[in-house]
Amino acid sequence: MQRQLLRADLVLPVPARRSLLVDGAVLVEADGTIGAVDDAARLIAAHPDAPVRHLRDRLLMPGLINAHCHSGLLRGTAEGLPVWEWLQRFIDPMHRVLRPEDAEAASRLCYAEALLSGTTTIVDMWRFMDGSARAARDLGIRAVLVPYVAEHPDHDYFETYDGNEALIAAWHGAERGRINVWVGLEHLFYAVPAALQRAAALSRHYGVPLHTHSNESRFDVEETLRRYGVRPVRALERFGVLDAHHVLLAHCCWLWPDEISVLAERGVGVAHNPISNMKLASGAAPVQALLDAGIAVGLGTDGEKENNNLDLFEEMKTASLLAKFSQLDAAALDAWSICEMATSSGARALGLGASIGSLEAGKAADLIAVRTKTPRMTPLLTGPDLNVHHNLVHAVQGADVDLTMVGGRIVVDGGVLQTADLAELIDRVNELVPPLFARRSAWLADHGGAVSEIGAV
Ligand SMILES: [Zn+2]
Repeated sequence: MQRQLLRADLVLPVPARRSLLVDGAVLVEADGTIGAVDDAARLIAAHPDAPVRHLRDRLLMPGLINAHCHSGLLRGTAEGLPVWEWLQRFIDPMHRVLRPEDAEAASRLCYAEALLSGTTTIVDMWRFMDGSARAARDLGIRAVLVPYVAEHPDHDYFETYDGNEALIAAWHGAERGRINVWVGLEHLFYAVPAALQRAAALSRHYGVPLHTHSNESRFDVEETLRRYGVRPVRALERFGVLDAHHVLLAHCCWLWPDEISVLAERGVGVAHNPISNMKLASGAAPVQALLDAGIAVGLGTDGEKENNNLDLFEEMKTASLLAKFSQLDAAALDAWSICEMATSSGARALGLGASIGSLEAGKAADLIAVRTKTPRMTPLLTGPDLNVHHNLVHAVQGADVDLTMVGGRIVVDGGVLQTADLAELIDRVNELVPPLFARRSAWLADHGGAVSEIGAV
């Protein structure tokens, strides 16, 4: 890659600083990092040899960080049930019959969708993740791969810690650090205590974070109390899960204040998934209380089956609306805080705050250009009536992303994926899904149409 300057009408370098550059530019170094961010005229004068790409009618901002997602193939086919019944009826039987080629095709489509809508980093909890690693390598997304590990007699059809460790050895740090592999855990209920301890030990040994779901629904909390006599965060603490190198928890809808204190003390990050939480009727996470406690909160779409798309701009708007609606407070979670959650706060939740999440010298050149000459962005005001942040949160959609750059490489240009043939990725999924569903139906027919009773786990 060659050193280059990206110039745009508007640059939002660091959402936390709540300031914009008008006619700004970003110097992208040959090694894929950011060299400088400044007024366009000043940067062009300082670097006369660097070619300039002038992005007219565009806003440049940090690439978005999807802090919790699952590659998947069930879009629009797993509807109308709350989370635990939904898992038993649709999701777990699919996992029992999923094949590596299905999983890889799902990741390729998922990463393409993410890049096209402005996501540059994705935390993906999924299966057979050698395929996901190849997908991330080829498509160019910055990936955090988290195997769906379960080590429990009733859930012996997921990934294992042996496999997780092998994936770390094979892929962690690949593509100059663009591919990360963490330690995964489907849920506390899906692992026996010895496996939970191994998970935390692996995380510490390799210096990689651990990611799991917690406090998602009221059932989750009640069942944890029934089994262990404590609420989920205390159970995670008791089993040693919070002793991992770093922990990212998805959902956290039902938290008591003492659990929030534990998360803050332990430096745990939280992935907030408002659309999934509304769609599965899970609840509304206490985001403001988490932020007030100093906890890094990122935004996640969850998977295609919970959302049903991976558009983080839509997630930003929904996070804002859910906070306002659930607190009956039109001022709840202001637009700048939401922009931070999708960028720098998300990066900190992942433990990657030093390398991604804002456009600053030394960080990876992960950025997106959003079209501004659109009805959705009009009027666009930068003076005393500044509305750019409100437009980004409440008006823009992922389809408005025109250019996506990850580590200095342009992977979406003119709204078109540059690193794969999108039609081929779609055709492949459409070819694999009917046989996958047929295998799931056969499995359900052979097993009386149901999987294990949750209460018997
Ligand atoms: Zn999830």
